[in-house]
Amino acid sequence: MNSINSPRHFNIPVFIPELACPFQCVFCNQQKISGTEKAPAPEEARSIIEARLATIPPDSETEIAFFGGNFTGIPQDEQERYLSIANEYVKDGRVKSIRLSTRPDYITRESVEFLKSMNVGAIELGAQSLHNEVLRRTGRGHTAEDVEAASKIILSYGLSLGLQMMIGLPLDTRERSIYTARKIIEYGADNTRVYPALVIAGTALERLYHKGTYKPITLEEAVGTAKEVLKIFEAAGVKVLRTGLHPSEELLSGSSLVAGPFHQSFKELALSEIWSDILFDAIQDRAGEAVYIRAPKREINYAVGYGSSNKKKLLERFKKVVFTADEALTGRQVVIDYN
Ligand code: SF4
Repeated sequence: MNSINSPRHFNIPVFIPELACPFQCVFCNQQKISGTEKAPAPEEARSIIEARLATIPPDSETEIAFFGGNFTGIPQDEQERYLSIANEYVKDGRVKSIRLSTRPDYITRESVEFLKSMNVGAIELGAQSLHNEVLRRTGRGHTAEDVEAASKIILSYGLSLGLQMMIGLPLDTRERSIYTARKIIEYGADNTRVYPALVIAGTALERLYHKGTYKPITLEEAVGTAKEVLKIFEAAGVKVLRTGLHPSEELLSGSSLVAGPFHQSFKELALSEIWSDILFDAIQDRAGEAVYIRAPKREINYAVGYGSSNKKKLLERFKKVVFTADEALTGRQVVIDYN
């Protein structure tokens, strides 16, 4: 959480799509997702960083993040070139740290030692699921055990560990997603990202979808599952860095998205559902004239609900529903009065 006293956090993503990636996970068309046609040359990476830095207020906490493909799968001299550029910014103090994402089966002691020597502070692994049947059907080419082994190595070097997960993959179920979330916690991740599986043009999933052998989960199911896993992560103190796919322009224009539970405000929908549970548990069977609900300031929009969804549901029971932001409340505290 940002407060008045803590610096604002910014991330400079440098996408490296499918560079040297020999796999073809059913959901993946990295070029479409990142909106980038090819990996940037190291010098282009510098321009991306410079352009983004120019928009970031001084005294912010800024991180360069190499996302997209399989960073440790590219030749080490190329990794070094990207990381050396990032290090120039770390050394001159404009950037605080470096993070990257890669595949769990491309993590070895040697690779992590090298990354640590290049000032990488955080590694995110695309776990996607920790259920081996789901991993197999998704064509990931690694197992849950690979994720566990890679996690141990990363943690043994004192680096921050992120484990990303997807919901709604082939053979996935809500129970399996919840199992994955619990395993992510067990493997020691301090952060995660939760993405709904979408059918993107040009992927194997698109072919399966058209053949009728893959049916994406509905938006309602995806939000319901996201709500459950977010609650599990929150209770365990695992930071959720993102919920929902980054809405790249290409996806929003609809040219890449074929099907699936895409929503621009997916995170807001999931957080509104968490508040729906809180409110309806607290209110139980009560109905009446008016209900007055106070919620923390930073949560008030979620308490009211996306598109006032929670307020509308309460208006089916109460003639009047009043939400107020209360600076004195924290977390997801709520105070409810009636008359
Ligand atoms: S998601 Fe799969 S196919 Fe896509 S870049 Fe990562 S490992 Fe390769």
